[in-house]
Amino acid sequence: MAHELPPLPYPKEALEPHIDALTMEIHHDRHHKAYVDNLNKAIAGNAALEAKPLDALIKDLASVPDNIRGPVRNNGGGHWNHSFFWKLMAPKAGGAPTGRLADAIKAAFGSFADFQAKFEAAGIGRFGSGWAWLVSNGGKLEIVSTANQDNPLMGKAVAGCEGKPVLGVDVWEHAYYLKYQNKRADYLKAIWNVIDWNAVARNL
Ligand code: MN
Repeated sequence: MAHELPPLPYPKEALEPHIDALTMEIHHDRHHKAYVDNLNKAIAGNAALEAKPLDALIKDLASVPDNIRGPVRNNGGGHWNHSFFWKLMAPKAGGAPTGRLADAIKAAFGSFADFQAKFEAAGIGRFGSGWAWLVSNGGKLEIVSTANQDNPLMGKAVAGCEGKPVLGVDVWEHAYYLKYQNKRADYLKAIWNVIDWNAVARNL
């Protein structure tokens, strides 16, 4: 069963003015689609890998043959990361988390503002392309970042970190360059306006 590009859960202009429609269109219709297509190409003809759900595939890259491990890591990670990312944003979102997520953030980082500052720093500090993540490690929240399309689910030996992703933010230039150019910090400030904390809380 081939992997499929999931539709955006809202119209491409829904996150304006924080994330512009053209960025969303290119990001989803071209970048995400390319990860899906290239993942399908990489595993074509390998029945065992074709039968694996995406989560299982990226959690066990060691079982992927050497000659396609790189493409599966990059494109499987890209497909997982973007599918996750779209669902964490919504129009008329933003604000602050509540309930159990708010408590966990306060316990781990002191305050929501301290969490935001540390998360932004993780995104700004990622040299080149990658992601900033909030992960749960045995119930404790941590902020990490990964290079390229790596994902904490790939584990420490591959991604340099581990844990269950709770929030992920794309810091590749393709995620922000049309509107924010080289100002990644401005994009990371703006994205708080469209983070859907109810969706994030469901990942706890
Ligand atoms: Mn991206």
